[in-house]
Amino acid sequence: MQPPEVIEQLLGAEEIEGKVRELAARITEDYRGKDPVLVGVLKGAFVMMADLSRCIDLPVEMDFIAVSSYGKETASSGVVRIVKDLDLDIEGRHVLLIEDIVDTGLTLNYLMNTLKTRNPASVEVCVLLNKPEARKVDMEVRYSGFEIPDRFVVGYGLDFAERFRHLPYIGILPDEVATGVEESWETE
Ligand code: 5GP
Repeated sequence: MQPPEVIEQLLGAEEIEGKVRELAARITEDYRGKDPVLVGVLKGAFVMMADLSRCIDLPVEMDFIAVSSYGKETASSGVVRIVKDLDLDIEGRHVLLIEDIVDTGLTLNYLMNTLKTRNPASVEVCVLLNKPEARKVDMEVRYSGFEIPDRFVVGYGLDFAERFRHLPYIGILPDEVATGVEESWETE
């Protein structure tokens, strides 16, 4: 496992803070008069959720959902197993899914479709990072912070084998460390 020194910084803490404030301002404006439910996708979204929610000037409620890593078939089918479901009833509620990163889009697409079956008033997505080159499903991401290249990133909630989530910045994991990451996900 590599120490943080080998991680090349992509986005600094101040840059991230500015973007989170910008997203929060847009959300505050768009949901004025409403009391949305913010749903953080564990574990990666916990840092974003904490920062974003404190900048949204609305009576928000919060909940979390956790999904399993991809298995071999599920990676291609886009089926993701929910390992921790919501505690709140979202029927008739405005739901905003908060995620650290959208890569292939399979996770958020599956979650959106699943949550829509529970008859919410609306479901939208807010991500800090977006890798458009990696997308496999066509899905609308209403709030997107930064577009980044198709590299493996860590920090600000994002991990590599549970490490680096605590870094206040986002950095690129060197290729020699990141190589094989997708394969290891698929064989989990
Ligand atoms: P999806 O491919 O379904 O859009 O993203 C699935 C999940 O893969 C994300 O929620 C995130 O947990 C993980 N992921 C995708 N790209 C990266 C990355 O660059 N770094 C890290 N740490 N996780 C990633």
